[in-house]
Amino acid sequence: MPRVYFTVVISGTAWLSLAFLLFFIHHENKHIFNNVRQAMVADIAAAGAPAVHPHNAHSIGQRNLDHRDLDSVLGQLDKDIPRFGPGEGGQPLMLSGVADMEKAKKTKNIHNFNLVVSDKISLERTVKDTRDSRCQDITYRFSKFPTASVIIVFHNEAWSTLMRTVHSVVNRTPHDILAEVVLVDDASTDDELEKKLQNIPKLVRGKVRLIRTTQREGVARAKIRGAREARGEVLVFLDSHCEVNTHWLEPMLDLIHQGPTTVVSPIIDSIDPETFGFQDGSLSRVSFRWSLETRRILLSKMEKADRLNPLEPVRSPLTNGGIFAVSKTFFEKVGGLDAGLDAWGADALDFSFKTWMCGGSIYIVPCSRVGHVTRKVPPYSSPGSLETSYQRNLVRIAETWMDEYKEEFYSAVPDARDRYFGDISEIESMKTRLHCHSFDWYLNHVTPSLLATANNARRAWGRVHNQNHDLCFIPSGEGKKLLVDTCSDDSKKQALLLTKDFEIRFEDLCLDLSDYRIGQQATLEACHGMAGTQEWIHSKPGQIKHRESGYCLDVAMGGRIYKPRLITNECSKDSGTQKWEFRHYTKRMNH
Ligand code: UDP
Ligand code: MN
Repeated sequence: MPRVYFTVVISGTAWLSLAFLLFFIHHENKHIFNNVRQAMVADIAAAGAPAVHPHNAHSIGQRNLDHRDLDSVLGQLDKDIPRFGPGEGGQPLMLSGVADMEKAKKTKNIHNFNLVVSDKISLERTVKDTRDSRCQDITYRFSKFPTASVIIVFHNEAWSTLMRTVHSVVNRTPHDILAEVVLVDDASTDDELEKKLQNIPKLVRGKVRLIRTTQREGVARAKIRGAREARGEVLVFLDSHCEVNTHWLEPMLDLIHQGPTTVVSPIIDSIDPETFGFQDGSLSRVSFRWSLETRRILLSKMEKADRLNPLEPVRSPLTNGGIFAVSKTFFEKVGGLDAGLDAWGADALDFSFKTWMCGGSIYIVPCSRVGHVTRKVPPYSSPGSLETSYQRNLVRIAETWMDEYKEEFYSAVPDARDRYFGDISEIESMKTRLHCHSFDWYLNHVTPSLLATANNARRAWGRVHNQNHDLCFIPSGEGKKLLVDTCSDDSKKQALLLTKDFEIRFEDLCLDLSDYRIGQQATLEACHGMAGTQEWIHSKPGQIKHRESGYCLDVAMGGRIYKPRLITNECSKDSGTQKWEFRHYTKRMNH
């Protein structure tokens, strides 16, 4: 036992020394960068906050670098120097002390994230580089890129999350392309925060500006205000609780430089609101349901295989939340954000519809990563209620952009009908002036999979029930078999759709039969829209027949583990186990 202990101590010490040696060599090489960054950090720290964590204190003090130094040195920053400390490297932080835990409990509803954890983490913590490793090989020649104004709007944000956002931008953005950071304080009411904010204008050599709205405007109008004041050629909107990653801005500016009507979002890494640990985001496009809830769609296997370059941008129906970059000229041409949107929510939806329909496009770039504290519920209050103003915003968007498809929205959210949504005449005349496309064009060109689920494209929908066995279809993910099991009350999870083109859809996947033999199991695959393996004939209530193979879906009981399976079988009119019923049928079924 003691010998084992001795070995562990010895080897432990050896490893530790090696780690320190490597750390110092690395540190020496990078000390110029570090000092410059720390000088800026020290500036921010002067705002009277617990800004710099003690472990950074060694390099504070060198503040006499002039502007040129910053230009040349910050422009080369491409990697975080590893450091030890709470939350460093984007690691989660778990509270252990009872007092801390109590305090966290007491304060948890202020921001709907763990304030104690956030306050313990350095304002300029390191994060791991979450990009695809191939992004490291790209060098951006940003001398010709447009300059960017980073606009951060906030209402009663916590100082630590707000400053961590600012630090990450200042530390990880090449100085040449960062025109400024514009902070828009949307009439915060937190006195402590207001006091600390007063020092902001002096910080970071005028790179950070603070604007305050005279009354609470809500997200959309606060962003409009920031955009109006911005001096850069590109506007980049960030939430006030973000941490941008290495080279986050260059890929976005690159795309806008190539096409000034392109609106670009990064991949968002989710920062856990409880531990502030980073969770890697995945490359997905952002779309929406008829209820106007947004949802992520992962790239299908087929699409992934087809992509010649895995780093190329992905076309997306919507921006990635409110985090996107857009040329100021294009933003102004389409009338910016809708100033009629109140309080919180849906501003990105409005701008996304406007972008696609009025001459622009939206892409998500894999090599740009931004961490965002993703919480379940927003913490704000609003006159009336936040839900009411959110729903009113959705109605306004449906009425402005969705043409006849607004009926899809109203049938998904019946209590939104007849809600007052304000005056939209200005947007209407902008649409005419710019010859904006119709919503039907948008659905056809940008999100055809949603179009396939519109009321007029449906034959039947809802859970699919087998009367004989009292079983339902259980859909899961791409490439997975369609199962049968007990029907659940949460019918949304079991809801499938029979389209006018005879596909059986679950979200963006279609029921597919690849093996035309008896006893095979159908799987869910990306919809290919070419009938064949994905074409199913159904009458109410009755068989579900795969047209090309001529086999019907049947339930097989038994097997080694006694579980019902959905299999192909010879069609038989009298078989009860081949009788299926969707919960709802449209008139189309009767023709
Ligand atoms: N915000 C604002 N005014 C408001 C409500 C929110 O300026 O009345 C800011 C908020 O501080 C944040 C951004 O708008 O920086 C987006 O809000 P939030 O992060 O709560 O939205 P979510 O990320 O949950 O969609
Ligand atoms: Mn947010």
